[in-house]
Amino acid sequence: MIGSIDKLVIANRGEIALRILRACHQLGIKTVALYSTADSDAKYVRLADESVCIGPAQASSSYLDIASVIAAAEVTEAHAIHPGYGFLSENADFADRVEQSGFVFVGPKAETIRTLGDKISAIKVMQEAGVPCVPGSNGPVPENGLEILELANQIGFPLMIKASGGGGGKGMRVCWDQSDLVRAVQLTRKEAAAAFGNDTIYMERFLENPRHIEFQVLADGLGNAIHLGERDCSMQRRHQKVIEEAPAPGITEQQRQEMGAKCVEACKYLNYRGAGTFEFLYENSEFFFIEVNTRIQVEHPVTEMITGIDILQEQIRIAAGEPLRFRQEQIGIVGHAFECRINAEDPQTFAPSPGRITNYHVAGGPGVRVDSHVYSNYVVPPYYDSMIGKVITHGMNRSEALSRMNGALQEMVIDGIKTNIPLHRELVVDPKFVEGGLDIHYLEKKLNL
Ligand code: ADP
Repeated sequence: MIGSIDKLVIANRGEIALRILRACHQLGIKTVALYSTADSDAKYVRLADESVCIGPAQASSSYLDIASVIAAAEVTEAHAIHPGYGFLSENADFADRVEQSGFVFVGPKAETIRTLGDKISAIKVMQEAGVPCVPGSNGPVPENGLEILELANQIGFPLMIKASGGGGGKGMRVCWDQSDLVRAVQLTRKEAAAAFGNDTIYMERFLENPRHIEFQVLADGLGNAIHLGERDCSMQRRHQKVIEEAPAPGITEQQRQEMGAKCVEACKYLNYRGAGTFEFLYENSEFFFIEVNTRIQVEHPVTEMITGIDILQEQIRIAAGEPLRFRQEQIGIVGHAFECRINAEDPQTFAPSPGRITNYHVAGGPGVRVDSHVYSNYVVPPYYDSMIGKVITHGMNRSEALSRMNGALQEMVIDGIKTNIPLHRELVVDPKFVEGGLDIHYLEKKLNL
């Protein structure tokens, strides 16, 4: 039991459901696993103290069904709801409903999620808090063609037109010169209205070869905030991260403390509560804010490995109302860590590959951690994200962490379905990757996409 939390509902599935369950058990908190009919055999469902089926396979009728999730918390008399990542994790209305129903939402206040979930309002608060942003329109794009052109010329080409309500890498368009501008604005506006129910768009400079670097923060909503350093997530395909590492190659301790301090200031300015990630594009030694993720992220383990802090446990302690247990001076970075996301997909075509895992052998040894809910005979359902786990390694330095990753990937056996392990085996010995510091386009170029 932590504070008033004696029983917690895990409103998610897969590896993060198991990760939340482990954190709760170590904190002495009972767990309620929620599952759709497609996940009824999952091992974490059995490991939980209680479980509730919340609907059919289709996520919109189960994991995304706010009423079912809250009803499950009611019938099990739980105290808190952890949303994990994806699904309802960044849904401000859900956070509101959870709290209005008398439960603790493990995450920021609904109002914070709302402010940061809208890109224009997020950029506005970041500017107020002194966080460097991509030079841009500082607000919605006007309707009038001439005014759009004038604004675009002030920002400079190439520029990016983005939906304020966008997410998941959608609702963005690059515009290379004036000739295409008005049409591109109209198209993005239409797409934004259709996809997000909000046609507000804005423009910002398009950075051509940036890296993706993000800072992990923890804040208690009581005036205390710290950062846990940065991660480099530049190895991406279609805006999806494939490999992450911490710390980011080439970032100096001074840069880390400077940018970290700015993120901490922004947390204090917002009276942020919970774990969060400040995402930046990094080009020519400059950081440009793109967004805050107001939830736990897939790649949190690399930060846990280099700081020794269990971010999930801290997230739950904060939700229970405890003040932060660490001061910034107590946070040290030891060594280096990598994470390879293991997806059930064809390593060449990336087509999903659900089905039965006939044989599963997991890597081990010093500095090796595997976060996954799968096992021999587990059936990967076709209805959800294809990620089935993460191989994480830690070493005293980057080269040791990488050689441990190489060894771990050689050891992993997942038979019966296709996975992207062969791709990871290739990437971790790629000379450019071994060197480090690649930009966000490297992987797609290498794959000839
Ligand atoms: P989403 O919320 O949809 O994930 P983001 O604003 O985080 O959108 O952007 C997603 C990705 O799009 C970034 O990681 C980056 O690869 C690319 N991107 C976004 N803004 C810019 C920009 N101004 N210049 C270049 N690339 C960008």
